[in-house]
Amino acid sequence: MNLPAFSVCVYCGSRNGNLPDYANVARQVGTWIGQHNGQLVYGGGNNGLMGIVAQATADAGGLVVGIIPKALQTIENTRTACTELHVVDTMHERKHMMAERADVFLALPGGIGTFEEFFEVWTWRQLGYHDKPIGLLNTRGYYDGLLQFVNNSVSQGFLNDWQMDLILSGTEPASLLQELVQAAGFAPEPQLAGL
Ligand code: AMP
Repeated sequence: MNLPAFSVCVYCGSRNGNLPDYANVARQVGTWIGQHNGQLVYGGGNNGLMGIVAQATADAGGLVVGIIPKALQTIENTRTACTELHVVDTMHERKHMMAERADVFLALPGGIGTFEEFFEVWTWRQLGYHDKPIGLLNTRGYYDGLLQFVNNSVSQGFLNDWQMDLILSGTEPASLLQELVQAAGFAPEPQLAGL
C-alpha cells in the first residue's frame, strides 16, 4: 500500500442531518481523499456523516485512521474496518491525536461535537499551537448563521480580521480540499487508475 500523500482530519456530524446533500458532500469528501492518495483522520465511528466519509474514503482506496475514546465505542458504533484504529482513554487524548495526525482540518455540517472540535483547532491556531489550514464546508448554507455570528464578533471588536483569515469556508468539497491541502504545502494529484 502506498504511503498517504497527506492527512485530512474531518470533523462532522454523528447524524446524517435532514437534507440528502449532507450525506452527498460527506461521500464527496471521502472520495476526494481516497482518489488523491490521502488519509482520513477522524473520530472512528460508523454513525452519521462520520461513517459515510470513512466508507467513501476506503471505497476510493484511501487510508482511514479512526481515533475513539474507550467509553464511546458502543455509542459511536466503532468502525472496526479502519486501516488504523486507536482506542484511547479520554476525549482529550482523541482530539490531541487527531490534531497531531492531521495536515489540514475540515469541518462538515454537524452538531455540538463538530462545533467544539472546529473552534478548538481554530483557537489553537490563533494561539500558534499549530499552523495547519482549517476549512469549513458550508453545505446548503448550513454554517451561514455561524459565519454571520463570528463576523458580528469582528464588528463588535472581539475578533480581528486576521483571525477570520485563519479559516477557509466554501461550498464545493473538491475545491475547498484542494485549497486546504495546497495551503499545507502539498500538490494533490488524482491517482490514475491502473498505474
Ligand atoms: P456531533 O457533531 O455532536 O454529532 O458529534 C460529532 C463528533 O464529535 C462525535 O464523535 C463526538 O464524540 C465528538 N465530540 C468531540 N468533542 C465533543 C464534545 N465536547 N461534546 C460532544 N461531542 C464531542
